[in-house]
Amino acid sequence: MTTVIFNGTGSSTGVPQLFCDCDVCKLTDERNRRTRFSMTLIEDETVLQIDFPYEIRQQLLRSQVSHIDAGWLTHAHSDHFAGIDDMRMASFRKDEPLPFFISRETFEIAQKRFPYLFFENEYLPRPFLKPVFVEKEPVQFRNMTLLPIRHKHGETVVTSLRFKDFALLADINSIEPAELDKAKGVKLLAISSTVWKKKHPTHFSFEEILDIIKYLAPERAYLTHMNHTFDYSETLKKLPENVLPAVDGLKIEV
Ligand SMILES: [Zn+2]
Ligand SMILES: [Zn+2]
Ligand SMILES: [Zn+2]
Repeated sequence: MTTVIFNGTGSSTGVPQLFCDCDVCKLTDERNRRTRFSMTLIEDETVLQIDFPYEIRQQLLRSQVSHIDAGWLTHAHSDHFAGIDDMRMASFRKDEPLPFFISRETFEIAQKRFPYLFFENEYLPRPFLKPVFVEKEPVQFRNMTLLPIRHKHGETVVTSLRFKDFALLADINSIEPAELDKAKGVKLLAISSTVWKKKHPTHFSFEEILDIIKYLAPERAYLTHMNHTFDYSETLKKLPENVLPAVDGLKIEV
């Protein structure tokens, strides 16, 4: 049994957006309140944290996640990475660098933004994070076999993953067929559905996301990483039966 937690289901701005007075941002429906994207996978006692937004500390406190054994970074955009400093505590508790799954492309950016976490630093005689480079081949971490799914989001390389009957497709607007097929037929799919509008430069539109879900044919899919154009109940009306908008804090056993 794998526990999947949708800690944060908002796009890069979060919902409500600052300074916006649209109906969704007015929060007449609390289900529209969304922090920035992160997820937690728990398999027996092993905890894998996927992405590290500004709100990660609050997210993990709310979900009562007791510890983290490894991290997985999809890409180094701020909404996925700006809260990485809080992983110092995961490293302190273990008294060793935290294994950190990351593509080489993402590492190039990440290490420039938070050098003290990856290299020698003024706090500890060791780094906080130990990069484990992933490409397209499966990687083993304790009792978890993690299958990377590589795709793009504008010019940015994104490393999503499949673990057993769960797959995540994070921020996306292009993917090779062989990589997409890795997520086929899962029981639970989480997918970044960021914008309604067609022709966004770095994200698939809502309709394109629905086409991908149809192709992958999961038992159930949850939309995540949604911006303020997604009203929970309005979105729900437009979704097929096996697809739902996720909400912050949602916990599912697969
Ligand atoms: Zn994002
Ligand atoms: Zn708004
Ligand atoms: Zn992004």
